[in-house]
Amino acid sequence: MSIRVPMPDPFKTAQNQLDEAAAIIRLDPAAHELLRCPMRELHVTMPVKMDNGTTKVFRGFRVQHNDARGPNKGGIRFHPDETINTVRALATWMTWKTALLDIPLGGGKGGVICDPKTMSAGELERLSRAYIRQVGRILGPEKDIPAPDVYTTPQIMAWMADEYAFMQGNNEFGVITGKPIALGGSAGRGDATARGGIYCVREAATALGINLTGAAAAILGYGNAGSSAHKLAVELLGMMVIAVSDSKGCIYNAEGLDYNAVKTHKEKTGTVTGFPGSSAISNEELLALDVTVLFPAALESVITETNTSNIRAKIIAELANGPTTPEADPILYNKGIHIIPDLLCNAGGVTVSYFEMVQNAYGYYWEEDEVHLRLEKKMKAAFQSVHKTAQQYKVHNRLAAYIVAVERVAEAMKLRGWY
Ligand code: GLU
Repeated sequence: MSIRVPMPDPFKTAQNQLDEAAAIIRLDPAAHELLRCPMRELHVTMPVKMDNGTTKVFRGFRVQHNDARGPNKGGIRFHPDETINTVRALATWMTWKTALLDIPLGGGKGGVICDPKTMSAGELERLSRAYIRQVGRILGPEKDIPAPDVYTTPQIMAWMADEYAFMQGNNEFGVITGKPIALGGSAGRGDATARGGIYCVREAATALGINLTGAAAAILGYGNAGSSAHKLAVELLGMMVIAVSDSKGCIYNAEGLDYNAVKTHKEKTGTVTGFPGSSAISNEELLALDVTVLFPAALESVITETNTSNIRAKIIAELANGPTTPEADPILYNKGIHIIPDLLCNAGGVTVSYFEMVQNAYGYYWEEDEVHLRLEKKMKAAFQSVHKTAQQYKVHNRLAAYIVAVERVAEAMKLRGWY
């Protein structure tokens, strides 16, 4: 019989992380209290006609954590285990992420409790439109701008943008990002999350004097961020990806896994498992591999107090949101493992989302090269500010990222006269 370990509450984690940073920078108590909770949240119930003729009722949320620096920004997740506290945590992390990247946006997040894997395209479209009919009243290019996240796609963003256009009576492309290119999307948004993370890994390797050419990497999770990280780790860093995983299992090959072949296999079978020439390993074995870079790119709380002692990676690049529990952070730091925290590592997605909003606003679209160059500049600047702050305060990178972000949001709140 396996023992179920209770999952930490991500919102408590987010609040504790803020508390730690607030104590270091001696944050004003009112500013601190304001930042501990979202400023606004909407809980919605949505009837959706299913293909079999019945009506199913879904629950969803949109949380707006803080918009002192600009409109709330953040993705929408479709997940069967979604909870309001997960969405609250993720909205909070978006506030820090946009501040850390120094883009003029705040933090928001949405979630719908559903299992997209068991739904038809028609059912997903009706659910997406129902969600926008309910939360559309608090969205807008100057209010709150959603984007893709776990199990939501550019197609879902297209349906949502279309529904919002019906509600407004005109197109408002800037209300949502991560749209398909044919519908006001930005070049380079598709792999932006992974690309931003790869730029950070390159910076970290330079700072640590590590040569990445031919070095091994393992990736936990093979959604948009994980699969793009596989491609870009090979293409941009010359690394060898020796293990990847998805919700069905993990695959391993010490000689490296070919990106195109794994992608074709996953497209055909729906999973990476059973990939020819690979052996099956467990999640825990993947996390414990002797690799230079480990990319957690799936869900929250996979690196915990109990498994950190097995981790041998030199760099952990957090493409997922919240993959490391707070108890694991100091242990990894003391082991000398360089963490590129989620707030920084996966911020390429929201950064190119911001570029998408800018392009929507002036109706003129950039070439992909230009998006990459601008993204690289933003990621490098954010990496350096975290690196410098970590050295200045002698703290781990996550706390350093919090210090930078919280100070910026607090400054905006002060200037607005909120405290
Ligand atoms: N969902 C992504 C994140 O967690 C992107 C958000 C966005 O582009 O607004 O950062």
